[in-house]
Amino acid sequence: MAHNVAIIGSGPAGFFTAEALLRSEADVRVDMFERLPVPFGLVRYGVAPDHQKLKSVTALFETLADHKDFTFLGNVSVGTDVSIEEMRASYDAVVVATGALRGRDLGIPGEELDGNLTATDFIGWYNGHPDFRDVKIDLSHRRAIVIGNGNVALDVCRILSKTVDELRGSDISAHALDALAESQVRDVHLVGRRGPAQAKFTAKELREFGTLAQAEPILHPDAIRLAPACAEEAAETGTPGVAKNLKILKGFADRKADPAKSRRIYFHFNMAPDRITGTDHAEEVVFKRMRLEGPAFGQRAVPTGAETSLRGGMVIGCVGYRGFGLPGLPFDAARGTIPNVSGQVHDTDGTPLPGVYTAGWIKRGPSGVIGTNRACGVETADQVLAGLTTGRDTDAARDAFVAALAARLDRVVDFAAWRRIDAREKADGARRGKPREKVTDIATMLAEALPDAEPKLRCAP
Ligand code: NAP
Repeated sequence: MAHNVAIIGSGPAGFFTAEALLRSEADVRVDMFERLPVPFGLVRYGVAPDHQKLKSVTALFETLADHKDFTFLGNVSVGTDVSIEEMRASYDAVVVATGALRGRDLGIPGEELDGNLTATDFIGWYNGHPDFRDVKIDLSHRRAIVIGNGNVALDVCRILSKTVDELRGSDISAHALDALAESQVRDVHLVGRRGPAQAKFTAKELREFGTLAQAEPILHPDAIRLAPACAEEAAETGTPGVAKNLKILKGFADRKADPAKSRRIYFHFNMAPDRITGTDHAEEVVFKRMRLEGPAFGQRAVPTGAETSLRGGMVIGCVGYRGFGLPGLPFDAARGTIPNVSGQVHDTDGTPLPGVYTAGWIKRGPSGVIGTNRACGVETADQVLAGLTTGRDTDAARDAFVAALAARLDRVVDFAAWRRIDAREKADGARRGKPREKVTDIATMLAEALPDAEPKLRCAP
């Protein structure tokens, strides 16, 4: 008699939770449910295509998928194809690891104008996500304005600023590479609402801006002159990333821009977006000038009363992500997370919801790098394991559930079927000198994954 755990979502949080469960002493079978026919979530669709090393974690996930007690059920949408109630009745535990799917809006007037995008629109488009591959991306403007001072904003600026030759060896989708080859964007303005000492960039990602083939980072030395409270924060040993970032930014400010380079990335700080103006299309972003007030580590950004603006036909807000709830589960709409304590989901009245857990961005909010999800998954798996009761035998219920699901939905994609998509993507990529050329539409994924003669589903015995 095994314990049966369903994990919803096949991104890093889902896989790291599965890893911790399958490597535990307990006799556990894991079924991983994924809305798309393809696994890996954020690693496949969020990580920048020119950062292939970060994607190498999929080798671990591939190994886990071969575990005899692991089953992948792709192309199954929980909440539509199956309900949480059905899953809770058939499994000892259900772990929600659905991530944070959508870029947050700026919440300012003018966001409805053409030319204004969220990070997920642009990133989903260049990464070939089926939901975003058809988003209209207009690269006919000379200036792009990227709002936010995190690593996502850096990814977006870098993809806009690299030449096609710099991107060619990545797994950027062909439609995006073709469009970027014709891009008229020459000036990218990266805007933070607070100062350089508060930017959330990591040094490795920021440093890359000094090495681009055709793009020069531009920064006025005054922009990194720190007020005493910021200098105190930056000097604090607990925040070494800040000091590194400041050093890199100083290097950018000191450097003489190479006139032979055709592109520029301008760094701006202390400017909070107030409104986007234009008739049908975004033409300008108006910002409130901000200053920081208060003691070190307790500083608040407040408007100075002055405004400034940047003209540009492409605006991309990179200001964090939002998770979404699942029908039948509590959800904290303000935080965009499922209420939980260490991964154990709690109901709206604060009581633990038996057998329901959460991991990753939907558990703790959209922060941290891929590896952060490992500790997060371990914490959740510990909760799952502690909650397993010896008296309950879910084997028969789980097997019946999976069999009924496979019969009801005739196009469930197991891991062997995903590997057929994977093989095709790698072969298509090899012909173009890329690690892979992603299939970007669900119909083609399914045609590749499930040729008629193939069995529909392989389940862990
Ligand atoms: P993030 O690091 O939280 O940065 C969000 C940025 O948006 C912050 O600068 C924030 O400013 C700003 N912001 C929020 N609301 C705003 C508003 N209304 N107006 C203007 N600015 C606003 O989030 P992220 O960049 O989306 O990244 C998510 C996580 O993924 C991070 O942990 C990141 O490190 C990680 N990531 C890692 C990599 C990598 O390792 N290569 C790549 C991409 C992402 P305030 O600070 O003032 O709130």
